Amino acid sequence: MSQLGTLYIISAPSGAGKSSLIQAFLKTQPRYDAQVSVSHTTRSKREGEQNGVHYHFVDEAHFHQMVAHNEFLEYAEVFGKFYGTSKQSILETLNSGVDVFLDIDWQGARQIRGKMPESVSIFILPPSKNELLRRLKGRGQDSDEVINFRMQKAISEMEHYAEYDYIIINDDFEKALHDLKTILRAERLKLQKQIKANDSLIFQLLSSE
Ligand code: GDP
Ligand code: ADP
Ligand code: 5GP
Repeated sequence: MSQLGTLYIISAPSGAGKSSLIQAFLKTQPRYDAQVSVSHTTRSKREGEQNGVHYHFVDEAHFHQMVAHNEFLEYAEVFGKFYGTSKQSILETLNSGVDVFLDIDWQGARQIRGKMPESVSIFILPPSKNELLRRLKGRGQDSDEVINFRMQKAISEMEHYAEYDYIIINDDFEKALHDLKTILRAERLKLQKQIKANDSLIFQLLSSE
């Protein structure tokens, strides 16, 4: 089934700047019809995070019940915690013509690509390992133990970069944001999207009247 909105999968090692880029995009493009999917997770809430806004924070029993009821489009275990994208809201949003951003790991990206081949995937890389470590520390929201674990996992996440349609290096933030905007713009200019968006114009231009 072809949806009106585009599903964007955005992955990166933790700390590379996914959330910052997505939030900056939505803030600077207020008229762009897009929503960020709010995942369910069993990890604990960080300071400043709100239930229902950053994540739906649930316990393992609740998460596994959702799995059993087939409520997830994809789910995965990341850093020893469960994360999942619930099906219902995403399909409704896409069908209403609004783009959806999924901030998910490579395992989830694989599952979505299999189920929704029209999705577009973007991988964000940091400019260096040292800078990634600096950003994880600078965020000031995780313990040293969690940061060290996430640094180890960063390499195994980055190994999957070649499965994605686009790569953005998040060195200079404004440049990376511009790259993200350019990708979204280019996707909107693709033939099938343009046909849908401009069907009456194309009809008029090609009519012999
Ligand atoms: P632009 O600012 O010159 O790109 O002017 P547009 O009229 O193309 O875009 C107006 C707003 O809608 C901007 O915030 C764009 O990012 C966003 N936008 C661009 N293309 C599309 C599109 O195809 N559909 C939707 N819903 N929004 C778009
Ligand atoms: P992710 O969502 O990928 O885990 P965040 O968006 O939370 O990453 O970014 C991690 C930290 O790095 C945040 O403190 C953010 O402000 C910072 N950051 C993001 N992009 C850049 C950049 N280009 N230059 C410097 N700092 C950045
Ligand atoms: P964080 O705990 O830093 O918010 O996210 C940790 C990792 O989990 C990131 O790689 C993020 O992309 C991934 N993640 C967040 N939500 C989901 C989800 O719904 N599904 C999957 N598969 N991964 C997710």
